[in-house]
Formats: sequence, C-alpha cells, structure tokens
Amino acid sequence: MDTVESGGLAVCTNYRESSRSGTGAARAIAARVFGAWSLGKLGHVGRALRLFHPGAGPGRAGPGRGLRRSCRFRVPPPQSLTMATSCTRLTGDLCSQVLDSVDALLFDCDGVLWKGDSMIPGAAALVNRLQERGKLVFFLTNNSTKSREMYVEKLRRLGFQAHCEQVFGSAPCAALYLRQEAKLSGSVYLIGGAALRGELQAQNIACSDSGPGPGLVQAMATEPLDPTVAAVLIGFDEHFTYTKLCRASRYLQDPACIFLATNTDTLLPLEGGGIPGTGCLVKAVEAASKRTAYVIGKPNDYMFKCLMKENGIDPSRTVMVGDRLDTDILMGTSCGLRTILALTGVSTLEEVRAHQESNSPERHKLVPTYYVNSVADLFPGLE
Ligand SMILES: [Mg+2]
Repeated sequence: MDTVESGGLAVCTNYRESSRSGTGAARAIAARVFGAWSLGKLGHVGRALRLFHPGAGPGRAGPGRGLRRSCRFRVPPPQSLTMATSCTRLTGDLCSQVLDSVDALLFDCDGVLWKGDSMIPGAAALVNRLQERGKLVFFLTNNSTKSREMYVEKLRRLGFQAHCEQVFGSAPCAALYLRQEAKLSGSVYLIGGAALRGELQAQNIACSDSGPGPGLVQAMATEPLDPTVAAVLIGFDEHFTYTKLCRASRYLQDPACIFLATNTDTLLPLEGGGIPGTGCLVKAVEAASKRTAYVIGKPNDYMFKCLMKENGIDPSRTVMVGDRLDTDILMGTSCGLRTILALTGVSTLEEVRAHQESNSPERHKLVPTYYVNSVADLFPGLE
C-alpha cells in the first residue's frame, strides 16, 4: 500500500482557538494554505502562521518568560499545524520532487540512522550524498546518554560525515535551556548520566551531590538539602534509586524550583530489544512531587527552536525524518514541517492508519506526510 488516506486537512491559526477543536477561522484558511502547499508556495503562508506562544512554565523561570526575553526566532505554536492529508510512500518522481523542494533535513537517530551500534543499511551513504548536494543535515535525538561530541564520534565511526554543530540532543539542549532561557543562578539536582553532567559543566552549571545509595528511610525524610539547588533535571540514569527519587521530590516541594526532563520516551531502544527509558523515571518523580516536568526533547519544540536560533532555516523548506509518531512526527507537524516516517524503528503503518481513522484531531497530528521503508529509499531521489 503506497498511500494511507486521511479524512481531511486541519490548519489552525491560533493556539488558543485551536484548543477549542478547530475554529471556523482556522478551517476557513485551511483550504487556502493547502492550495499554497500544492503549488509549492507555502513559504509565505508558513511565515504568516509562525506565531509565538508562551508555553507552560516549569518553575520560577519558565520557558515562556525566558523565551519571550531572549529568542529572536519564531516557530508555530503547538497546535498551529499543517497536517498531512495522506501518508504517501516516497518513491520515484515524488521522492525527487520532495528532496528538490527542501533545503534542510532533520534526522532522528535511533531507529532511523542506526539501531544500537548497527547502522541502518545505506543511511550513511544517503546522509553524505545529501550534504554533497548542498542540503543542510541535522541530527535531533532525545537520547540524553551522549554529549554532542559523543554523537559526532558515533556518527563518524558509522561512516556519517558530521560535526558538533549539526547535533541537537536533549542533553546539550537541556543545559542550554537552563543557562540561556531559565537564567539559572543556583545548582542542579541531577538524575542522569555522565554525558548530561558534562553538558551542564560545559555551561558552567554546578551539580549538587546526587546522594548515597539506599539508606534509612527516616533519614531520607529529614536529611538537610543543598540550599543552592534551584532546578531538578531528569535524564536517563541507570543508577536511579529510591534515594534520588526522595531527594528530587523534596527539592520540588519548593514551587520555585525548576523541574526539567530531557525526554519522556518510556522505551530506550537497543539492539535486540528495549529497556525502560527516561520517561519512566520522569513519571516516578512527577508522581512523587505532584508536579509536571518541562520536557526538552521531542515532541516539544525546544530542540527545534535551538536549531532555528543557530541556523535560521526555513520551516517550509525543511523535512523531519523519524521513526516515532508520538515524538518525531508530532514535533515536525507542530513546527510546520513536512515529515517522513521511516519504518525501521518503533512506529508502524498500522498505527498511522489508526490515527487517520480516528475522529480525534489530536491523533491526526501524528500522521506523517510521507513514509519510506528505510531512509535508504530516499537515495534514488538524489540521482
Ligand atoms: Mg527514534
């Protein structure tokens, strides 16, 4: 099956209005925008739609206030969307046309370019050819276990041409958020690994002692807390303990303490299977603290905002390539990008079809514009 048909198009002009499930005004311009898209003239419409939204704050320096202060770029609000009317397989002339119409391609990594330590066959050749053809290539990953340098090392080891400025991971972007947007003045209580700690240090952000291993429960309730801690940051932590959960929740009893998470993926895909991901740890701390973390990774648009700030790409000439509907595709849709689902990872065409057939506008946001069996299928479009 080459095309997964969809019931319709929804383009919203206003975040708050769209939250009331598609206003007449939004629907009225939908056809116009779709027409512009069909004619390849979406750029001006995309710019018109690129409205700014404040977002929800994680603590005393929430993303709304911070971003309003310092960001020069603007991306569409989460529900200002250009959603796919069909999920079409990219082959032949259509593949060539799509690649001709984009200047930049954003690639998720796990499940798209590699699985564990094994490259998806043909992925490096594709990425390298794209760059030889003058396309801008970026790597967007929710995985917080690696720094930018570690990602570049892995990319090069697997044969990809890459440098640090092309990598936007949840670890470096979390550190950037705390330094540039939240203007953090204290230290961070970190539940996370060495790479995340290193990214914080690169931004001159101190980490409080994460605490000893299991101890007396009563002592956990009364032990003195570090008065310098102004934020709690959750990333993947293979040494997550009850002690860390207890300390994090006690810091978060202060409503001014910023609560940040690198990502909410509940599965960390590894070669041969998967294990519980960062999202499971975030859920535990959220339950214990009765607070909700501000999430840096996809489907939130913060990593894309970082990319826009550094590179100034045109969303109407950018495509997001990912293997997960609820992170990669949703972020791409929310940011006004066309999206390509690669069927080499988590999500399937059956899930796409179920989202399309749903009556829920929220689920329609998860429908990609195109799909390929593998990113290697894009290669003939460059010939
Ligand atoms: Mg992935």
